[in-house]
This record gives sequence, structure tokens and C-alpha cells, in this order.
Amino acid sequence: MKEWIVFLDSGDTLVDETTQEFDERGIVLRAQLIPGARELLETLRREGIPVAMVADGQAESFRNVYRGLGLESYFAQRIYSSDVGAEKPSPLMFETALRAMGLTDADKGRIVMMGNHVKKDIIGANRFGITSVLIDWSHRYPTVPETPDETPDFTVHTPLGLLDVLRMADSSQK
Ligand SMILES: [Mg+2]
Repeated sequence: MKEWIVFLDSGDTLVDETTQEFDERGIVLRAQLIPGARELLETLRREGIPVAMVADGQAESFRNVYRGLGLESYFAQRIYSSDVGAEKPSPLMFETALRAMGLTDADKGRIVMMGNHVKKDIIGANRFGITSVLIDWSHRYPTVPETPDETPDFTVHTPLGLLDVLRMADSSQK
């Protein structure tokens, strides 16, 4: 396989937002995964594909959720908007992830961002110049593109669909 780098959103991409349990401060204490999310992370690890989380929200919430799920170690880097001071689609989120992963602009051709929100994940990835994958497992947020900027390179219906995209994109490129 091509030496892919994967950036992943969290809510409704890996974690089912309807299962989130909050404390009185609005911090997420725990949440459940979307079916297939754990298998996706395990497969990416097995295939040696580095993964960064690029997610909007409070670092404390994400730490609670992923520690509870036993999945913190599956991410080489975790980039949270509460640390960055900007939310997707700000290029700052993607730039921070790129640099944290030890990558440069020259690596953008092998980076894939998967997320559920066309106005955050997809437009952000497209403008940043990386491959965009929309996961439309949930329709809580806009998943229908209204502009070319919001149009994903690929659409999948479940987390594991990303593996098909990586393999397909692999064989269609040099
Ligand atoms: Mg999301």
C-alpha cells in the first residue's frame, strides 16, 4: 500500500455522539464507538499507517472517552481545537496536525482526512490540499455538499469503508 497518513475526526466518525454522557460542566465522560471503529483503528495499526485525531472539542472530553475505550495509544497525535484555539475548517487545525506528525507540505498527497461534517472536515481538508473522505453514518450534521469546496473526494457509510478507499486510491495512483 501507498504510505498513507490518516487524519480522523471523532464525533460521528469514530464515536456515536448520541451515546455521549456529560458532566455538569459539559465535559464528555464516556461514549460508545460506531460499529467498526475499533476494527478500523486496529487495521490501520497493523498495516503501519500513522493516525492523527483532528477533532473539535475539549481535550478533557476526548481524553475521557478514548481512555475509557482503551484507544488512546492508537493515535500518534491528537489535535484538539481547545488546545489549538481554532476549529475546523481552520487550516490551523490541519497545519498543527501536519507538523505534529513530522510532515511537510510535500506529504499532503498521501494524507487522507475522514470526517462526518462537510462544513468542517471536508471543506477543511479540501482547502488544505489533502484527500477528503466523508463518512455519512450519521446525518446529524450537514452531509450534503452545497459547494464544490464541500464535495468529498470519497464517501463511505461506515468507519471500515475508509480501508476500501485507501486500497482503491492506492491502485488508481502511481
Ligand atoms: Mg464529527
